[in-house]
Amino acid sequence: MIDNSLFHNKKVHYHTLGCKLNFAETSSIGKMLSNEGFVKARAGEQADVCIVNTCSVTDTADHKCRQAINRLNRQHPNAVIIVTGCYAQLKPDEVAAIEGVDLVLGMNEKFDILEYLQKREENSSDEIFHSDILKTKKFRPACSRDGRTRFFLKVQDGCDYYCTYCTIPFARGHSRNASIVETVEAAKEAIAEGAKEIVLSGVNTGDFGKTTSEKFIDLVKALDALPQDIRFRISSIEPNLLTDELIEYLAHSRHFMPHFHIPLQTGSNAVLKLMKRRYTTEFFAEKIQTIHKFIPDAFIGVDVIVGVRGETEKYFQEAVNFIESLDISQLHVFSYSERAGTKMLEIEPVVSPAERKRRSEVLHEISAKKTRLFYEKQIGKTDYVLWESRKNDDNMVGFTENYIRVEHPYIKEHINTIQKVKLADWNEDKSAITVIY
Ligand code: SF4
Repeated sequence: MIDNSLFHNKKVHYHTLGCKLNFAETSSIGKMLSNEGFVKARAGEQADVCIVNTCSVTDTADHKCRQAINRLNRQHPNAVIIVTGCYAQLKPDEVAAIEGVDLVLGMNEKFDILEYLQKREENSSDEIFHSDILKTKKFRPACSRDGRTRFFLKVQDGCDYYCTYCTIPFARGHSRNASIVETVEAAKEAIAEGAKEIVLSGVNTGDFGKTTSEKFIDLVKALDALPQDIRFRISSIEPNLLTDELIEYLAHSRHFMPHFHIPLQTGSNAVLKLMKRRYTTEFFAEKIQTIHKFIPDAFIGVDVIVGVRGETEKYFQEAVNFIESLDISQLHVFSYSERAGTKMLEIEPVVSPAERKRRSEVLHEISAKKTRLFYEKQIGKTDYVLWESRKNDDNMVGFTENYIRVEHPYIKEHINTIQKVKLADWNEDKSAITVIY
């Protein structure tokens, strides 16, 4: 039982690092705390409680978390500092040892912050509360908004794939989800709160359904049947879970946008094997072709990691050639970072950090070329834009259905609405396409 007199008018400051899932979860924790009387500390105001929701996807992420905690400790010297999230789950002792940290909460404990705060108010001890995430079956729903229009709805958590370079399954546990009925209800709530676009988010989103014996495509169909005016995007989907049936359905759906984000990770079959990924480059290339067959103008973003152990120069070159051959719109390039406890640490040879950087630059250049080409192919076409916000200059920015960033002189009444436009030309700094009504 929470005694909310303890929390009345207490000031809380949130700091979130990492993925959209973390942001969605912080937002849900925020709602919970404000229901119990907490108020958000304004800029420059001293907080009573600081909550840091951490990420641990790379060593750099860990480092950024430590920096954020140190900064908060300096800015809010009297606040109770609570650290949760992936870094807290994976390395609780390391986190607890950082100066100023009062409470460390693992993934399972993340949503019970109020109980732990109450306990702390009662006996004021610094503690670590942390349990084995691999044992949990609990799915905690979460939703956050990015500005006024776009919402991120957590539909799935955890992962059962155990790719050799990845620690996420150890931080987030097994794949799990709410039911289709519950998820559709959560989407309806987001729409009622003003969502115009909802991004379905998860650790392995396409694996939705594991715990409820349902299928991701049935969730997509149920959301597509909603009568409201809403756009959906799928945050990311593993190639082996992106079935031809799903692609064909998405091609004719009412609400799902022609936009895919697919992790390839490498374009070398030998390295895919070392990573224990569940497809080959041939399979991946076929998926891209199938998307274009059904949805010719789809935006396709692809994740790649460079410099993993075992990626020799020959394999990297193979990957470059394969990626060059794909008809895709953008690459999200990540440099490999060694993670304690992963199988990849047994693999030789190691790619030096300087070489990882060089490989990353090669792929960034390919990505820029592909994005330019994709944008140029869309010039002259008609599309629907959801106008999101005003830029520093007098323009507003938004995205077309197939995720082209566009801009137009600001029209106040059009913000947060969908408008039909014609794509005209590049803007001055070539960061977006200008449109005409
Ligand atoms: S699919 Fe692989 S890379 Fe993605 S979260 Fe699961 S284990 Fe990590």
